[in-house]
Amino acid sequence: MKKTHLATLTRDEIRESAPHSLVVLPIAAIEQHGPHLPISTDTMIVTQVADTIARRLAPELKILVAPTLPYGISHHHKPHPGVMTVGTANMLGILEDLVGSLVGSGFRRIAILNGHGGNVDVMNIIAREMNYRHDVTITALDVWEFYEDPEGIVVGHAGKAETAVMMHLTPELVSATLPGPAEMVTKSRIDGVRVFQAGKRLGLGPGYGDDPSKATAALGEEIFEHLCERCSDFIRKVCALDDR
Ligand SMILES: [Zn+2]
Repeated sequence: MKKTHLATLTRDEIRESAPHSLVVLPIAAIEQHGPHLPISTDTMIVTQVADTIARRLAPELKILVAPTLPYGISHHHKPHPGVMTVGTANMLGILEDLVGSLVGSGFRRIAILNGHGGNVDVMNIIAREMNYRHDVTITALDVWEFYEDPEGIVVGHAGKAETAVMMHLTPELVSATLPGPAEMVTKSRIDGVRVFQAGKRLGLGPGYGDDPSKATAALGEEIFEHLCERCSDFIRKVCALDDR
């Protein structure tokens, strides 16, 4: 069976395969996810998506998945306990170093796969910067990018969708009592433009959005399959764009 985890290869195997492979670098966060989900929720989901898409694409493409960076920018979740956050400048530095290391190992096609909203701005800066510095095709994709709730609900942090996916992946880590509806406080927009409103960041509210009590494991399986399918499709298109 083809190896898909970068960390299981030897240096010689990497030297040989890197120029012809696409490497996925999953990044996430360790942060509060309401009263009902573990703080590693984002890390678990993005790791499972990355592993699943690499396995499923293995017959047609060379995909290698790097170890997940579990930490991200989570300042907005303070002062809840369990928030292990990395500052913006540090996160830029970490991603610059990790992506730079992958380039140094010979990779020329790189996909940062993100499981946490707070990392989005920084990952795009790094993708642009690395493409400028090196002869690499690089993209930064959020796993939730293509997800739309069928009922039109704005997907909340630790809300119905994330709770459902965790009930599917690791039911033993989801609290038996799911909290009811909460107001989503993070995303103020005026005329489509984001406004970071004083006193309204996530950590100052209940720490979760929409309605986790509507989550089921069956819904989670459906959503997880959708995320994997859309991310696979995207990776396939990136490979077609630059098939070295
Ligand atoms: Zn999350």
